Amino acid sequence: MSIFSKIAAGEIPSYCCAADDEFYAFLDINPMAKGHTLVIPRREVDYIFDLEDDELARLHVFAARVARAIKKVIPCVKVGEAVLGLEVPHAHIHLIPMQSERDMLFSNPKLQLPAEEMQAVADAIRANFQG
Ligand code: AMP
Repeated sequence: MSIFSKIAAGEIPSYCCAADDEFYAFLDINPMAKGHTLVIPRREVDYIFDLEDDELARLHVFAARVARAIKKVIPCVKVGEAVLGLEVPHAHIHLIPMQSERDMLFSNPKLQLPAEEMQAVADAIRANFQG
């Protein structure tokens, strides 16, 4: 079971931003920006482009709903999307509130936000998420 499967199953704690039967969204623990969120399918597939076409499409529709909620909570120009998957072998989309293109540079130093702030951001995104 991947670490992200354990997170989606509630076996490892996470700052949950949105969830349904098929997908789960939670704050990245080492955010590039406040509100940096990961969106995963509950089904464990390593490489995002190995997902079935329908599942990949539904994942993106779910991610778009999460991105709209993030944009309501975090002042930003747009929410950027990135796919890497070099660290965790469970397909995921990064959603990152952007002020400029520099916010999408994964070589940037990561933020360390207090747990209370992470919880407050996740709660606000969840409250604005329209499933
Ligand atoms: P990548 O697989 O290269 O897309 O990177 C994996 C991302 O998952 C990184 O941005 C990590 O900070 C993030 N990450 C790893 N473990 C956790 C965790 N337990 N909770 C939240 N985010 C995580």
